[in-house]
Amino acid sequence: MSQVLVVNCGSSSLKFAIMDGSGAAPLLEGIADRLGSEHSNITFKFNGQKVEQPLHEHDHKGAVTAIKQWIDDHKDLNIQLVGIGHRVVHGGETFSQSVLIDEAVLQGIDDCSKFAPLHNPAHVKGINEAQALFGDLPHVAVFDTAFHQTMEADQYLYPIPMRLYREHHFRKYGFHGTSYRYISAKLASLNENFGSQNTLIAHLGNGASVCAVRAGKSVDTSMGITPLEGLMMGTRSGSLDPSLLSFISDAEGISMKQALDILNKESGLKGVSEISNDCRTIETAQAAGDDRAELALNMFASKAAKHLASVATNLNSVDHLVFTGGIGENSPVLRDKICERLKMMGVRLDQNLNQTCPRGEISQISSDTSSANIWVIPTNEELLIAQDTLSLIDKH
Ligand code: AMP
Repeated sequence: MSQVLVVNCGSSSLKFAIMDGSGAAPLLEGIADRLGSEHSNITFKFNGQKVEQPLHEHDHKGAVTAIKQWIDDHKDLNIQLVGIGHRVVHGGETFSQSVLIDEAVLQGIDDCSKFAPLHNPAHVKGINEAQALFGDLPHVAVFDTAFHQTMEADQYLYPIPMRLYREHHFRKYGFHGTSYRYISAKLASLNENFGSQNTLIAHLGNGASVCAVRAGKSVDTSMGITPLEGLMMGTRSGSLDPSLLSFISDAEGISMKQALDILNKESGLKGVSEISNDCRTIETAQAAGDDRAELALNMFASKAAKHLASVATNLNSVDHLVFTGGIGENSPVLRDKICERLKMMGVRLDQNLNQTCPRGEISQISSDTSSANIWVIPTNEELLIAQDTLSLIDKH
């Protein structure tokens, strides 16, 4: 069967997977880490084994070369790569769907770097290196922002002088779009009326956001021009009074950029709990009676519920509420705390189903009296990237 190499380039890491479009587990998965440092390494997960090796070249090129070498060394697996799918964080207003990459597209991705200075330049690097080594294959870009390009102006504009939007494209873009599109497609396959229904999706992971989906289209989401807006996250503060930025900068004698770094990297669950950004660690601390952990989890749930209620104002009803992402899929504690705060919507969890739903599977966890179906649906952004890549290759 035809396979796709799915590539997700960060500034110092490169995640990858080789998979077909069927939904079967990837043939190979892995991550190249600490790129840019002499301790860079690459881990291959294959056939239940995990192999870690140092990189000879400590950059994105070194990572892509190692992946190609791995494929060449495993000829017996008969890997038939037909294309490469690249995850791209920011597509601005230029990209509302996945596209085959040519020079103009690459330039477009580069042009969006001002909104995602850590991500888009890394994507461009990764695409360049992959094209150099796998030049004979088609390359496809799949954008985190694309799904939200259906939002109306009254949702995506910030209430700031319009010239700032006209001249600089400062607006809400939203992220996690590939995950929301995947979940929407799953729900559509499970509900024949999905095309006329209303859905709230909470993608809760280290990054977290929510989305309101009307008839399969994003109508509002919590993240903004960058993934800092909206919910409290692992290390990100989410929304707060923008004046705080200048207060922090003045009080600490640091630049605005450094203050922004605090909001991006030192805040959220990590900042409040003073324990970790990792939900599992915080839940363990809470269970052992740690008050800071309890506070961090309550704040996380409260912000998630508030943003769900906020984006729900775009819907006439809530037919489905979906939890996904590492926390959404695996934390009954937080699902319970969030649903508890959404009682006014008529949302009611079945406590037993919430506690016992099996990991990695689609489950319904609502009680019979709930106004909305509550779901846990594991997301699979890589699969959607592979499927988009295959379908664009087919079309062309
Ligand atoms: P993601 O960014 O989607 O990979 O999600 C990462 C987050 O999911 C981290 O905060 C993890 O602690 C959290 N997570 C993963 N498994 C569990 C679990 N069993 N219980 C609570 N949180 C979890």
